[in-house]
Amino acid sequence: MKTENTTSLGLANRIHAAPESATVRIADLAKKLRRRGEDVVDFSAGRAFEDTPKDICNTASKAMMSGDTHQTMAQGKPEYREAVAKKLKRENGIDADPESEIIATFGCKNGLTLSLLATINPGDEVILEDPGFVSYAPTIQFFGGVPVPVPLRPENNHRWDEEELRAAVTDRTKAILFCSPHNPTGVVHTPENLEIISRVAIEKNLYVISDEIYERVVWGRHRHTCISTLPGMKERSITLMGLTKTASMGGWRVGFAYAPEPVIKAMITLQQHLATCVSSFTQVGAAHAFGEEPGPELTTMWKNWERRCEYMTGELDKLPGVSCAMPEGGFYGWADIRETGKASEPFAEKLLTEHHVAVVPGAAFGKQGEGFLRITCVKSDQELEKGIERMKKAFA
Ligand code: GLU
Repeated sequence: MKTENTTSLGLANRIHAAPESATVRIADLAKKLRRRGEDVVDFSAGRAFEDTPKDICNTASKAMMSGDTHQTMAQGKPEYREAVAKKLKRENGIDADPESEIIATFGCKNGLTLSLLATINPGDEVILEDPGFVSYAPTIQFFGGVPVPVPLRPENNHRWDEEELRAAVTDRTKAILFCSPHNPTGVVHTPENLEIISRVAIEKNLYVISDEIYERVVWGRHRHTCISTLPGMKERSITLMGLTKTASMGGWRVGFAYAPEPVIKAMITLQQHLATCVSSFTQVGAAHAFGEEPGPELTTMWKNWERRCEYMTGELDKLPGVSCAMPEGGFYGWADIRETGKASEPFAEKLLTEHHVAVVPGAAFGKQGEGFLRITCVKSDQELEKGIERMKKAFA
C-alpha cells in the first residue's frame, strides 16, 4: 500500500515510491481491531508473546530512578559497548574493540540506516535477498540507492546461487545486504553458504551488511556463524545485532553495529545529527542483557520458542495444500501455499477480515515470496491453537 499525497503542498518523491511496511502495518491493524473488541489472533510481526525478563527491566529501571536519564555519547555508553564486546567474544568468537568498532543503535533498523548512509552514494546498487525483510528495499531507496533483489529459490533451499549472485554485480554495486537466520524463510547460513557471499564480496570489492538479529535463536543441529569471522571479511563487514527478538525487547529499540573503525566513525557522525544517541537507561538494561551468559529466563524462553515453532509449523504443514518446514533459526513459519493456487495478499486479507488471523503475505517480502505466508510462531500456546483452528476453516 502506497502513502497517498493528501496535501496540496506535496510530499517528497521518496515517500510516493515506498510501500508501507507490511509487517508493521498489519500488526498495527491487528492492534486497532483488538482495541475495537475484535478477537484477532496476531501472527504478523516478529514479536514474541513473552515480556522482557525481569532482571533486565529491574536493571534499567534502577538506572532511571538513580538519575541515568541524560543523553549518552553518540557512540553509546562505554559500559554498553564493553558488554557488547564481551558478548561478541563469548558467543561469536569475535574480538571487537569497544572504543572503535562498536556503536549503539536503535535496534537493527537504525543500524541499517546508519550503515547505508555511511557507505552508499545516490545511484549505488545494493544486492539483497528476494524474499527478504520488507524494510530493506525502501530504506535503500530512501537514501538514493538502488535495491537489486537476487532470488533465493525454494529449489535451492532458499539460498543464493553463486553464479546468479555474481551476475547481479555491476560497476555500481556497493554492498550485499543479507540476513541469517533469515527473515522470512528461517534459513541459517552454514559457513559454506557464507563463503559464496564472501567470495563474491572480496572478488568485487563490496561491503557486506549482515543483519544477524535472530542469531541467538537457532534450532537443532544448526549453528550461527558471523560472516565477519571468515577470512578477508572483517574489513568489509558491517554486522547488525540487537535484543529486539531474542530477549523480547522490541519496545526498547536497542542494538548495535560492529564494523571497521572508519565505518563506525562515519556512523557516529550520522548518529550525532540524526538521533544524538540511544536512550540512556535502555543501554544499561541492554548492557546487563549482553554482558552475562544468557540466564534461565532467556534459555527457558528459547526452549519454549523451539517447541512452539515445531508445533506451529507441524500444524501448518498438515493444512490441505500447505507445506511448512521447521525454521532452522528465528521464529517464522514460511508456509508454502502455492499448491492451493491462492495469491498471498488477498488470502492474508481474507484471513484477517473473515477469520481474524493476522499473517504477513509472502509477496510483501519480494516477488519470490508470492505463494507463501509468514507466520510468527512465538505466541502463547492458546493463541497458536486458536489460530490453527481458524486457519483449518480458512483452508478447508
Ligand atoms: N522485524 C519484525 C518483522 O519482520 C518486526 C516488524 C518490523 O519491525 O518490521 O516482523
